[in-house]
Amino acid sequence: MTSLDQTGFHFDNSYTHLPEAFYARVNPVPVRAPKMAVFNRELAASLGLNADVLAGQAGAEIFSGNVIPSGADPIAQAYAGHQFGHFTNLGDGRANLLGEHLAVNGERFDIQLKGSGQTPFSRRGDGRAALGPMLREYIISEAMHSLGVPSTRSLAVVTTGEMVFREKPQPGAILTRVASSHIRVGTMEYAAAIDGENPRALSKLANYTLNRHFPDLVSVSEPYLAMLHAVIERQAALIAKWMHVGFIHGVMNTDNMALSGETIDYGPCAFMDHYSHSTLFSSIDQHGRYAYGNQPKIAEWNLTRFAEALVPLLHEDPAQAAGKAKEAVETFTEIFKRHWLAGMGAKLGLLKSETGDFSLAEDLLAWMEQHKADYTNTFRALSSETLPDEIMFRDAKFVEWRARWKKRLPSSALMRTSNPAVIPRNHRVEAALEAAVERSDYSVMERLLAALKSPYGDFSEFAEFRVPGPLGSGYQTFCGT
Ligand code: AMP
Ligand code: MG
Repeated sequence: MTSLDQTGFHFDNSYTHLPEAFYARVNPVPVRAPKMAVFNRELAASLGLNADVLAGQAGAEIFSGNVIPSGADPIAQAYAGHQFGHFTNLGDGRANLLGEHLAVNGERFDIQLKGSGQTPFSRRGDGRAALGPMLREYIISEAMHSLGVPSTRSLAVVTTGEMVFREKPQPGAILTRVASSHIRVGTMEYAAAIDGENPRALSKLANYTLNRHFPDLVSVSEPYLAMLHAVIERQAALIAKWMHVGFIHGVMNTDNMALSGETIDYGPCAFMDHYSHSTLFSSIDQHGRYAYGNQPKIAEWNLTRFAEALVPLLHEDPAQAAGKAKEAVETFTEIFKRHWLAGMGAKLGLLKSETGDFSLAEDLLAWMEQHKADYTNTFRALSSETLPDEIMFRDAKFVEWRARWKKRLPSSALMRTSNPAVIPRNHRVEAALEAAVERSDYSVMERLLAALKSPYGDFSEFAEFRVPGPLGSGYQTFCGT
């Protein structure tokens, strides 16, 4: 279905052409008093939407689900996933996909409302979301985008005029998420799980995914194997980028890994201050499964689940198919290392690679860990001529490392575009959320968002955003579901 009206939405829905097992047709549940909290004018404009119309009450009505824009065909998507290692049937329990919007250049985007009410997949949940976590996703996903990390985007957050009940009552809100798609590793696991002998659902979803995300692979000789390799490549590149900016996703369940290669489902995520492999903020991750340094291993684990789901399509002989799947996943470590090293090389300003680069990077990180050095600020400091007057920079190990590194004639220009000055620091994010949620004061968040727009610039007016939070603050993040 296609429509053009004054909102600028141009829906062209293809997911609903999949078998009905993949979704439930369900409308958002209306809310009492929708009000715009934040609206992303720039994103709206880039999507070809009418920002002036959508920024007002008309937008609040649409982004709350009270008004369905013409051409939308709301569904909740079915999926499964491994959560903390255990397989579960899931699905959008608190989200509606309004439809797929075609941007002016023809690019296709899912427009999803998160927090839009109960669906057949809600289990015991209320289908709603609290304002704090939705603003958090808005801030962090937009920061990721500006940092150059592939991510779903945030178009708007509206408050609903209703309360949601978590540990304590909180204002309810709905986030409008824009994504290349919401096809997850867990969606492929779901398809594999519902098929009997004949991989009918699986091949439908795999073909759909190929057409949508990997059109160049549709007519190669082994398209499903090629897709597996392409997803591995994108995830390796993505996780390397997370590592480079110090991002910890926090809940890398297979349902939270998108086949598009975008970061998705911002829950208990956070950025690392002082460098440590074991950094972990999520209160629900008691064993540190999703700690900073574990992310590459977990990505590989998730990709193994993806490969297993694809097995029936890889070869008619199950043993040969399993062999192909295994061989593909085994390439992850090397591909990840290549991406990691390329990004670390850029962070160190190295214009060409040499043997020994790996230990050059690792030695710096080991020293940083020992001195609890701030990850972001230390890399940024290395790009300036004079180092800050801090005792750790006088440490013999560092002096020796720096001499070794300087011999490589690092480019400070490359370093400045590879090492952000501003990241969404935990204490700044919390301050922004507190002002918005407790006092309906959005000015703190607006300023933070402005600082995060140009993370690689040197703007003195945003200097305060470079200051780390207190060391050992025991900062914790919560899922907020
Ligand atoms: P998440 O941790 O956000 O990835 O969510 C995991 C699963 O729980 C997904 O299937 C969600 O749709 C579902 N879920 C999370 N919160 C709620 C809620 N408040 N009501 C219903 N389902 C929810
Ligand atoms: Mg999720």
